[in-house]
Amino acid sequence: MVFFCFLVDQRRTMRSSKPAAGICSRCGGGASVAEMVTATRFCYLPFHRKLWRAVICTFCGAVLKSYRHH
Ligand SMILES: [Zn+2]
Repeated sequence: MVFFCFLVDQRRTMRSSKPAAGICSRCGGGASVAEMVTATRFCYLPFHRKLWRAVICTFCGAVLKSYRHH
């Protein structure tokens, strides 16, 4: 039996955050600098993890600014 799996799943989780200056352009909520992890899974097997930093809204979760990680 051959089983093909094309299920790709991406999950974004926040590791830590601290308050930052600025307000959200969408809802006017407070901004915070967050350390994010994007985990990509293929067939329920994690195969890629990316760490990145972003300024996000603590109220609605909008990404206001993101920084590239090297
Ligand atoms: Zn917001």
